[in-house]
This record gives sequence, C-alpha cells and structure tokens, in this order.
Amino acid sequence: MGGSVCAHRLAKAGMKTLVLERGGWAKRDALDWNQREILVRQRYRGEVPIQIRQYEDRDFKPVYGAEVVGGMSVFYGGASLRLRETDFESWPIEYMDLEPFYTRVETLLEVHGKAGQDPFEPPRSADYPFAAVDLSSPAERIFRAGCALGYRPFQIPLAINFSNPGRTTCIRCITCDGFPCQIEAKNDAATTALKQAQAYGLEVMPNVMVARLGEKGGRVETVECIDKEGRSTFSLSAPLIVVSAGALQSPALLLRSGFGAFAQGDRIGRFLMRHCNTIVTYIFPFRTNPDHRFHKQICFSDFYEVFREAHGRATGVIQDIYTPAPEVLSHFAPWGGKHLAAWTAPLMQNLLCVAEDEPQYENRVFLSKSTDVYGLPQIQVRHAYSEADCERRDYLVLQARKVLKQAGGIIPYTYRLDSFSHAVGTLAFGTDESVLDVHCRFRGLENLFVVDGSFMPTSGGVNPSLTIAANALRVGDYLVEKFCGA
Ligand SMILES: Cc1cc2nc3c(=O)[nH]c(=O)nc-3n(C[C@H](O)[C@H](O)[C@H](O)COP(=O)(O)OP(=O)(O)OC[C@H]3O[C@@H](n4cnc5c(N)ncnc54)[C@H](O)[C@@H]3O)c2cc1C
Ligand code: SF4
Repeated sequence: MGGSVCAHRLAKAGMKTLVLERGGWAKRDALDWNQREILVRQRYRGEVPIQIRQYEDRDFKPVYGAEVVGGMSVFYGGASLRLRETDFESWPIEYMDLEPFYTRVETLLEVHGKAGQDPFEPPRSADYPFAAVDLSSPAERIFRAGCALGYRPFQIPLAINFSNPGRTTCIRCITCDGFPCQIEAKNDAATTALKQAQAYGLEVMPNVMVARLGEKGGRVETVECIDKEGRSTFSLSAPLIVVSAGALQSPALLLRSGFGAFAQGDRIGRFLMRHCNTIVTYIFPFRTNPDHRFHKQICFSDFYEVFREAHGRATGVIQDIYTPAPEVLSHFAPWGGKHLAAWTAPLMQNLLCVAEDEPQYENRVFLSKSTDVYGLPQIQVRHAYSEADCERRDYLVLQARKVLKQAGGIIPYTYRLDSFSHAVGTLAFGTDESVLDVHCRFRGLENLFVVDGSFMPTSGGVNPSLTIAANALRVGDYLVEKFCGA
C-alpha cells in the first residue's frame, strides 16, 4: 500500500520510477474467488517462510505469507478508517498534518463512506468521494442490534468500487476479505495507485526479490536483486531508494544490508505491533446469510476512548466480518469437530475486535544464522501481547458478544487471531532516537526512505492501510519537492 501510493505520486510528478516486487500480478481468474484455493492451498504463498514465535509457544513456527503485486492490500477488506487525533500523542506529527493526505488518498482509493456517522470521527476537510451503499441484511441485523443496545454503529468507509461507472463495479460477493477481487472492483493498491501510475510511466518489475542494499559514503549506491524466475542476480542503482516491503520484511532487508551499524540500528525491527485481534462468533437459530451477500459494512467505535486515561491507548473498534465456507471451517477445525464446523457455518455470524497493542522493545523482527532457499538469512519474529493489550481486547470481545446476542445469536465462540496482517511499527519515525526522521528518511543514509506500515510509532485502534497510504503520499510530496524541485 505504502509503496504503490508513493510510486504513484513520484511517477505523476514525472520522476522515472521503478517498483521491484517479489510477487507476480494477481491472476484475477475464477480461482481467486475459490475459498479452498485461496485459504487452504494458499495460491499466492511465497517460497520462504518467516519463523514466528508467539511467547506462549516454545518453538519458532514457519509462517508463509502471500507474495503479489499490490501486497496485502490485494487481500484486504478495504476498511479505510482514519486514526483519531488522540492517536497522535506520541507521533512527531499531528492529526491535522496528515488530514489533507487522508483526504487525497480517500480520493485515490475511491473510498465509499458517510461522514458524520462515526461518533469518534476526527475532523475532515472534505466528504468521502463516494457515498456509502445500502446495508445487506446481515449488516442490517448487526446495525439494529447495536442501536437497540444504545451504541452508535456506522458504515465502514470502504475502498471498494460500488458506484464508479468508469470501472467494474462490485457485485457484493462473499469472497472479498482475504481474496483478490477477480473483477478488480476492490480498490487495492495494484488496481488503483499502480495501474494509474503505469499510465504516468511507472515501471513495475514483478518476481524480483530485493536481497540487499549497498551503502557508500552515506548513500545507498546499489540495490542487489534476485530474479526469482531465472534464479539469477543483478544489481541496480538510482539516486533515490524508497523501501516498502511491509513491517516484517523492511527491517529484515535493512538488517541484512548491514544497516544495524547505524546510529539507531539497535531499534531496527523492534516495537513490532499487529493489533490484538479476535473474532467473536455466535451460532444463530437460522441461516444468517442465505444469499451469500457481502456484509463487511458495520463498525462500532463507541468504546474507542474507554481505556485512554488508564492505558494511554485506544481500545479499538468492532467490525462486521464474513464466515468462511463450510469446507474451509471444516478443514481448520480440530479433529472431531470437523462435521460440526461444516454444519454450523451457515448459522454463524461474527464480529472482528481490533484492539490497539502497545509498542514493546522485546517484540521484534530479527535475522537467524541459517539461510533460506535464496541464500539470505532467515527472518525470525518474536511477539507477545501485554496484559493491557489483552484487557482492551477482552473488553471489546464482551461488547461484541452483547451485540451478537442481541441480534439473535444463541451459542458463542471466540477465536483469537494470531496473524500479522496488521503488522506495523518496526522502523518508527519520530524524534532523534527513532530509526526514521519525520520525513521517513532512514537516519544516516541521505537517499533512503521507508513508506510502509513500519513507520508507525503506535498502532492506534483502527485498520492501518489508510494511514499507511496517507503517510506514503505525505512522504511522496516531500520527495517530489526535494528531488524534483516541483
Ligand atoms: C486478509 C487481510 C485483510 C485486511 N483487511 C484490511 C482492511 O480491511 N483495512 C485495512 O486498513 N487493512 C487491512 N489489512 C492490512 C493491510 O492490507 C496492510 O496494513 C497493508 O497492505 C500494509 O501495507 P504495507 O505498505 O505496509 O506493506 P505490504 O502490503 O505488506 O506490502 C509489502 C510488499 O513488499 C513486497 N516485498 C516484501 N519483501 C520484498 C523484497 N525483499 N523484495 C521485493 N518485494 C518485497 C511484498 O510482496 C509486498 O507486496 C488486511 C490484511 C489482510 C492480509
Ligand atoms: S465484494 Fe466486490 S470488491 Fe469484494 S471481491 Fe466481491 S466483487 Fe470484488
């Protein structure tokens, strides 16, 4: 998301811009909407896992991520929320510094929303570029239940093309969050920013893994690459290098390039955050979505500030989320529960709780001594939640249960997410002690910038992609002015 939006800005300004991406283009065929193919067989899975240890586990376990042009945005749910003013307390910029960029990326990503509904909505200089669309019946059920409890549910601003006739419009299917959109109606970074930037002359080189950056005299001089298809290596150079490999891969790239030796090198990869996420499910005495309609439409921010005084952090938000297909639930269910999972799937309705997690020095990305199939050091991740993180999450879980029960649910089930889909924070920008300066320049290297989620000093309590995109545009403006004089 960060790399695509920044590349768009640079290419539009006339800068000769090349994007290097380890994955290929999404195939956009029928299998992209096949639940087994995407969720079980992991169609876009890369060759090299990250070794991850959650503190409660004894061992590192290999986790394979998807590799595709457009990054995780290709699989995202398109929820496009802004951070709140209070989230910026430990940031080197204020909400109002980022506000114009939020507005501009909402236009670039064609976000559909309704201003004024969200009780904790921060000030906006413009309305959403496109109006929110009507609720499907599962979303309506959640909306009504929330209102009956005295909450103020609102429509999630979505980067999905429901209404721009100039592009394919959304058919509101059930395979959205977690899947590439076969018809390119989801406004992911590849479909929007990259595609438009190609018209301005942007070049995209897929299936190229950046192995290392080479430094000389305080500048990045070379980018060492591996052509994944031909298994050959080559080297490039450019006056300006922008890294945006995601909050797990960007610090790993800087570490294997030897940049740990720079002033704030010890902080590279530290303070990893990923939100403290849980899915609350209820089984209903009826089929909750018989028409298989898209319904990731409702959000609750009523609880956002509940813990601010005690913890100094946002509690987070609760959002609608779909139920995977019976065969997928059955595949992941424990032995003995497979039939039950498949049978109850059509009766389920869920809410996703997204709680802010705190930046902790011990939570980090680092390199192992062993190497992967490309001969690069393996990447390891260690992460554990604090007690306060769990307290905020548990509070949201309680509220989500109330809503689903009010909506007619009868049997609850709670499922903790251990994914790193909201990973941020490993190369935070900020004051003198941070890895990146306020313009997201790597301290010590004049021509190296970072624009993915790793720049975030705190995770806030909303989905991260719109903030990553807004910041990438902010950095893009700076780069255009600095390197182009425009
Ligand atoms: C299923 C799912 C649903 C989500 N839903 C939402 C949502 O509704 N709203 C929201 O705000 N967020 C959502 N997210 C999170 C959102 O997608 C991410 O926060 C966002 O995409 C992160 O952007 P990024 O720029 O930090 O990096 P990424 O998206 O991780 O992009 C990094 C890119 O760099 C490439 N790369 C990595 N290493 C190398 C290398 N060495 N050489 C070359 N290329 C490399 C990767 O392949 C990738 O394309 C979701 C994520 C997932 C997985
Ligand atoms: S819901 Fe719409 S945007 Fe999402 S995958 Fe289906 S058609 Fe595409």
